[in-house]
Amino acid sequence: VLVPMQLAYIGLGSNLEQPREQIKRALQSLGELPETKLLDDSGFYESKPMGPSDQPDYVNAVAELETALDAETLFRHCQSIEQQQGRIRQRHWGERTIDLDVLLYGQEQIDTTDLTVPHPGIGQRDFVYLPLLKISPDIVIPGKGALKEIVQSCASDETDYACTFAGNIK
Ligand code: AMP
Repeated sequence: VLVPMQLAYIGLGSNLEQPREQIKRALQSLGELPETKLLDDSGFYESKPMGPSDQPDYVNAVAELETALDAETLFRHCQSIEQQQGRIRQRHWGERTIDLDVLLYGQEQIDTTDLTVPHPGIGQRDFVYLPLLKISPDIVIPGKGALKEIVQSCASDETDYACTFAGNIK
C-alpha cells in the first residue's frame, strides 16, 4: 500500500538548558521518526518571552518534514520528544527545555480536544511565522489564505514581540 506523504511543519522553542542544543537535538529526533524525512529547517531565531517576562529569552526554529505518519501520530511523537528532553510543565507560558507544536499538516484542518491544526498562533506570533516564511514564503494556511498576507493584515498589534534571525543550524 502506498501511504501518501504529507508536508508538515513543526515549531520549536526553548529557553532553558542550552536552548540551541535543545533545538538541535529535537530536530535530529524529528528526522529520525519512522516514515519521516527532515527536509529543511529555518535556522535559529531569538525572541523575547511571551507571557511572564522574568524568564530567559527564547530560541525558536521551524522544521519542514515529509511524513507518512498521520497528524495525531506525529503529534504523539512530538510529545515524546518533549518528554525525552526532560520537559517539565511549569507555569502557563513559562520557561521550558523544549516545546514542539504541530503548526501545519498538509492541507488538513483538525480540531480535537488534543490537537488544533493549523496551530491557532501562527498568524500572531512572529517567532512562529518568521521562521515558517523563511522556509516557505508562499505557504498557505488552510481555511485562511497566504500567510504573508495574514501577517501583513494584523501587523499593527504585533509591536510587543521581537524576533530576529540568529544563524544557521549546523
Ligand atoms: P504547550 O504548553 O504549548 O506544550 O501546549 C500543549 C497543549 O496544546 C497540549 O496539551 C496539546 O494537546 C495542545 N495542542 C493543541 N493543538 C496543538 C498543536 N497543533 N501542536 C501542539 N500542541 C497542541
